[in-house]
Amino acid sequence: MASVKGYFQNIFENIRTIAIGMKITIKYCFQKTVTVHYPEHRLSFAPRYRGIHEFEADKCIACDLCAKACPVDCIYIDKSAPRKIDKKTGKAAGGELLRFAIDYSKCLFCALCTEPCPTLCIHMGKLHDLSSYSRKEVVVEFAELAKQELNTPIPLWMEKNRDRIGWVKDEYDRVKSRTLATTAADIAPVK
Ligand code: SF4
Ligand code: SF4
Repeated sequence: MASVKGYFQNIFENIRTIAIGMKITIKYCFQKTVTVHYPEHRLSFAPRYRGIHEFEADKCIACDLCAKACPVDCIYIDKSAPRKIDKKTGKAAGGELLRFAIDYSKCLFCALCTEPCPTLCIHMGKLHDLSSYSRKEVVVEFAELAKQELNTPIPLWMEKNRDRIGWVKDEYDRVKSRTLATTAADIAPVK
């Protein structure tokens, strides 16, 4: 008899807990949405938002100061010979910049690498969504990108959506034209 009572008690408990769960679910169904349908819609970033770097390879003298400032050692630089800024052109001359890479599986987006740069050629950008299929793909080879006339990588989703979403096209055109996302003029002074 006791087991029959327990059997019905279990059924009652199941129904009761499902009802509690459904009550919470229904309550959330009628609450205001807090997410957006990205990339069709997007939230605006704070002016000082720090995204994937933008790098001007033609101004980099491969001095390693950014790599030394990086707290997680995720910047890799190699050159064939010393480089320095040519005063006439304002561009780096001398040896070749063989490698300038950042491993985004380690990067903290702290911006400490941008502070000591003597030629102001490394900047924090505004793109954040660099999804990849492997760890190797999150190491961005900026010196190679420069050969394709890019300062920052163009994510695959941006390539795919640029013809149908206005803001994605604007951002795509900006990256293609090598216009920097963040410049001193963009950032309001701290009061
Ligand atoms: S943002 Fe910070 S962690 Fe990332 S590369 Fe620069 S210094 Fe290193
Ligand atoms: S500090 Fe600037 S110039 Fe020096 S290696 Fe880094 S990005 Fe290049």
